[in-house]
Amino acid sequence: MNKRPLVREEISQLLERLYPICRSLTGEGNRETLKILREHIPLDIREVSTGTKAFDWEVPKEWNIIDAWVKDPSGNKVIDFGNSNLHVVGYSTPVNKVMSLEELKGHLHTLPDSPTAIPYRTSYYEEQWGFCVSHEEYEKLEDGEYEVFIDSELKDGSLTYGELYLEGEIKDEFLISTYICHPSMCNDNLSGVVLSTFLAKELMKRDRYMSYRFLFIPETLGSIVWLSRNEDMVHNIKYGLVATCTGDDGPVTYKMAKSDDALINEIVVKSLQDSRVPYILQDFYPWGSDDRQYSSPGFDMPVGSLMRTPYRYFPEYHTSLDDLNFVSADNISDSVDRYIDVVNIVEKNKIYINKNPKCEPRLGKYGFYNIAGGQRKPEILDALRWILSLSDGYNSLLDISKRSGMEFCKIAQAAKALRECGLIEEIRT
Ligand SMILES: [Zn+2]
Repeated sequence: MNKRPLVREEISQLLERLYPICRSLTGEGNRETLKILREHIPLDIREVSTGTKAFDWEVPKEWNIIDAWVKDPSGNKVIDFGNSNLHVVGYSTPVNKVMSLEELKGHLHTLPDSPTAIPYRTSYYEEQWGFCVSHEEYEKLEDGEYEVFIDSELKDGSLTYGELYLEGEIKDEFLISTYICHPSMCNDNLSGVVLSTFLAKELMKRDRYMSYRFLFIPETLGSIVWLSRNEDMVHNIKYGLVATCTGDDGPVTYKMAKSDDALINEIVVKSLQDSRVPYILQDFYPWGSDDRQYSSPGFDMPVGSLMRTPYRYFPEYHTSLDDLNFVSADNISDSVDRYIDVVNIVEKNKIYINKNPKCEPRLGKYGFYNIAGGQRKPEILDALRWILSLSDGYNSLLDISKRSGMEFCKIAQAAKALRECGLIEEIRT
């Protein structure tokens, strides 16, 4: 891809624009985020009303916040939502009260082990209020009366998500799911949001064999709600990836889809081997992101997660230290490339049958020795022979690339040449 450095600049700009917005499970911050994404990709914005049932869950009230602060006994703002939206516990109810430091402390959250970081906390399902502060600031608070103010609102409204469907030649789909519910934090998960946006932009420019569906949803409840509304079509989803934590400096990590025979696992592993980047494989575990919902037994969808350093594995996770300095446009751009490597295999991984199965065809007759030219090790001829030998109507190009130890793109290139001269024919399954 010749997308640098222009795309890197665009990635930086989008990150910086989205970073200050106060997102949550619901609310205006999510709408604003999706509206900005629509400047890049034609997302459909969906609204699902408060009270809507989704399996064992229900869409809660919509939460919005205007302002929040705490003033110390001298009237100085010692905690200010205006400085960081992480200062307020997500879904905090309104409050306007004077109280003792002792009472206030019952509503303060800190991280003693990471004293400069503001933690990220939410309370979606229990009505309460709270503030998050760095432990350093917390320890400076002096005894006395504190004025506490949160101008927020919980009301009947809706849960908002964005969806983009890119139609391909076939109905089979590749799902890319990312979450938009985190306030000012970058790796978790503006990196996934930005990656998905630029991946969608790239796929929009291409001829597509597969169809692609992008979801920009609030984590957990968003995927539960989406699944409850789309139960009749999820069988079309043949591959899926959850895009999160894609912007830090760590090595690429692939958290595998749950099912042992999920083809997405083989495809991602082969794409990483071929790209020659260092990578870590994690077996599936039933916590983490939306892959939990997609993998639940009632759906059992083949959805893995392609990340850099996974959630919970970096100390900045769910704190104010996961900021614009913790991620880079270069890393996100590299992660986009890793996703495109996967797409390239998915698009071309077909099964062929050798139309000249009785002994080898005379390759020279078809001009293949000219393609090989004067190469001492004519790799293209090796690839042709592997395909002709294994194309029995059962082995896919991925199977052939694994068995031969050759890069998938070389096998796909050779398959194209063989197809063009009629020596192999695609089997439509
Ligand atoms: Zn998170």
